[in-house]
Amino acid sequence: MRIITIVGARPQFIKAAAVSRAFAKYQEIEEKIVHTGQHFDTNMSDIFFEEMEIPRPHYNLDINGLGHGAMTGQMLEKIEKVLIDEKPDWVLIYGDTNSTIAGALAASKLHIKVAHVEAGLRSFNMNMPEEVNRILTDRISNILFCPTDTAINNLKSEGYDNIDIKIVKSGDVMQDAALFYAEKSKKPPFNLPEKFILATIHRAENTDDIERLKAIFEAFNTIGKDTKVIIPLHPRTHKILDRNQIKLDSDNIQIIPPVGYLEMIHLLKNCEMVMTDSGGLQKEAFFFDKSCITLRDETEWVELIENKYNVLAGADSNKIIENYNKFEFNKDFSMDLYAKGHASDFIVKALKEY
Ligand code: UDP
Repeated sequence: MRIITIVGARPQFIKAAAVSRAFAKYQEIEEKIVHTGQHFDTNMSDIFFEEMEIPRPHYNLDINGLGHGAMTGQMLEKIEKVLIDEKPDWVLIYGDTNSTIAGALAASKLHIKVAHVEAGLRSFNMNMPEEVNRILTDRISNILFCPTDTAINNLKSEGYDNIDIKIVKSGDVMQDAALFYAEKSKKPPFNLPEKFILATIHRAENTDDIERLKAIFEAFNTIGKDTKVIIPLHPRTHKILDRNQIKLDSDNIQIIPPVGYLEMIHLLKNCEMVMTDSGGLQKEAFFFDKSCITLRDETEWVELIENKYNVLAGADSNKIIENYNKFEFNKDFSMDLYAKGHASDFIVKALKEY
């Protein structure tokens, strides 16, 4: 069985590596990885691949720094060329990026089977480019690997029972990754306070909306008086803060450059709780037994909300502070929501049996 995996962003590499480790158990499976280049950052240098034990891509398409149309269009063209040369049995794609939709579209037009990992997730917010990518990718895939029951129910309510697409509940490969790397976590090269909240903000809906950004930092300034807040922040967002004179209580808020994943795990293991607008980090908080306040108005990971591991606070400073002070989080993290590290095995088994 020959597989071409398409990845374009750091988290996709991390997830794909988990599945690659499961593929490696079978001699009859040959996987080649295509890196679209969508997210290129210096943290994705040689060290990233070595330290993370991630297989190096066979193809680097080097497509970045473009708008959605040009980026997706160029990916489509270049991925198609690779697929015509390689003639794989499957194209495997992850998540909801432009690389995901480009890989699915290129493959389906060539009648190559498409497997989508992290399928069925919905935020029901069509203004998010990710939501558009998810919906379109699911519909042109042949097998959908859903991380949760919620994802399966989303597909059912969109009529997938009447469509010839195989749906498999696989659990979440991100938990496979988190468990694998948990042993290898690394302390970041700076002093950590004894008690701290780990916060991240990177979504356009927050970083490009000054009022929302202000409100979030207002909450951090208040909460920071009680427990210090550490924020790995993209330099672009840091500049937005400076440009708009958004005040930071620098005694209590520590902004640091983005950290590597192994350092992120160290922070997750050692923090008091997490505040984030990241999809991945909401689950990672749960994997490392931490409560989470989500700085968005909706989430794809509703089971965390339903079970009180996570609470939505949007970008409302009062709501963030109130949840921090009063919300009664569920502190029993033993629930099996994401297959506890076996998602990759389920995925490989389903592909072999298809
Ligand atoms: N991450 C990281 N370093 C950082 C920020 C994030 O390693 O400085 C990791 C994070 O732990 C998660 C992944 O990157 O596993 C994806 O996070 P991000 O917030 O970029 O994306 P999302 O999950 O919202 O797509």
